[in-house]
Amino acid sequence: MAEAIIKVENLKKHFPIQDPLPFKKSKQSVKAVDGVSFEVLRGETLGIVGESGCGKSTMARLINQLIRPTDGKVVFKGQDLASMGTKEIRASRKSIQMVFQNPYASLDPRKTIKQLIAEPLEIHKMGDPLSRKKRVQELLEVVGLSSYHADRYPHEFSGGQRQRINIARALALNPDVIICDEPVSALDVSVQAQVINLLKDLQKQFDLTYIFISHDLNVVRYMCDRIAVMYLGKIVEIGTFAEIYENPLHPYTKALLSAIPKESPYEKKERILLKGDVPSPVHPPAGCHFHQRCHLAMDICKTARPELKQHETMQRVACHLFES
Ligand code: SF4
Repeated sequence: MAEAIIKVENLKKHFPIQDPLPFKKSKQSVKAVDGVSFEVLRGETLGIVGESGCGKSTMARLINQLIRPTDGKVVFKGQDLASMGTKEIRASRKSIQMVFQNPYASLDPRKTIKQLIAEPLEIHKMGDPLSRKKRVQELLEVVGLSSYHADRYPHEFSGGQRQRINIARALALNPDVIICDEPVSALDVSVQAQVINLLKDLQKQFDLTYIFISHDLNVVRYMCDRIAVMYLGKIVEIGTFAEIYENPLHPYTKALLSAIPKESPYEKKERILLKGDVPSPVHPPAGCHFHQRCHLAMDICKTARPELKQHETMQRVACHLFES
């Protein structure tokens, strides 16, 4: 089994709510990520899935410290990023890069492609102008673009090409880990496949580890080795691709999987419809956060919070149905 490159321990991010009265501190907070622990193994793709607002994008930003946690640890190669100062965090970002969701908003429209790709090298003072120029040419080829694209501006490219430019930027510093936050959800389906294939090729070529955040279970199925399912700031189930897709345990995971469209009209599939909306992360329900929407809820679910525990198979699940 591969070693863990990132260990997340009891990670929390509670955003305080501004009180409408000036100078009065509100005691309420949005519990975007609320005590999450997991490991990312070297060379794997860990998928993080869940509905909008479940905390997956906040967790991505916590892992590379774009936002600082309220509590908990993010241990990368033995060092806790959450306890580091700004200078050390900056240095660690060489190794953990991000590809964001919106390829249109994530590139500065006033800069040429060569300036955009060279930017991370300049920020981290790597190489001289000539070596940076060479590196930009190399990266353009690696992501399937040509050197004649270097002097163009972002508006001259399609969504898929812009996402390739973002990937080139993320690769510039030779990172160990790339966090992909919904990297294909803003793209057409045909272009999605090209970008996903590119990410898979690059993973092999550069021995990369990915954290892949998505609400699209079809994309996750194609991309990921292991999958963590998040609900209201917590992980409710985590396991290998096969465990999650062939033997989901948590009722929420089952409901998400039942929403994937059938591959053929003859396939038998029962759709599990979830009742109501995701509850407020300001006042999450007592007990199991999912109990108000769960068709299997028992009395204990309303009062006792289930812990994420290992099941007989290797997957871990937070549900009273699987507590012995
Ligand atoms: Fe449903 Fe209870 Fe399991 Fe929560 S703990 S998912 S409410 S059965």
